[in-house]
Amino acid sequence: MRNTEKTITLQGDKCTDCKICELTCSAVRERGFNRGKARLHVERQDLLKVLLDICRLCAHPACVVACPTHAIEVADGLGIVSITPADCTACGLCVSACPHKALRLWPGRDVPAVCDL
Ligand code: SF4
Ligand code: SF4
Repeated sequence: MRNTEKTITLQGDKCTDCKICELTCSAVRERGFNRGKARLHVERQDLLKVLLDICRLCAHPACVVACPTHAIEVADGLGIVSITPADCTACGLCVSACPHKALRLWPGRDVPAVCDL
């Protein structure tokens, strides 16, 4: 992970997997309660382990490498993944390449959605 001031972390011992964070995110960003359109996702692995799917601002981002049109970059200083809509073809290759499931595309979106914290 890059050294940035902002991030979101999950304390697995306190998370009840209620998904309210996902619903809240979708309400704020998509103006509707739809967990499938949330930028962050909580994944329960087993009784004790819960993972947070969110952009890790990789030092060597697989999403950037995968993009055939160079539309995506991890913006230094901003601490976010940035996609230039005019260069994005919505091919989804970055979505498949991200090891943290941080990028999402759904019908109707022109560019992948990613958490900007
Ligand atoms: S979107 Fe995925 S691959 Fe790209 S910087 Fe974030 S975590 Fe890394
Ligand atoms: S969906 Fe857009 S940003 Fe992602 S790989 Fe395809 S062209 Fe690049």
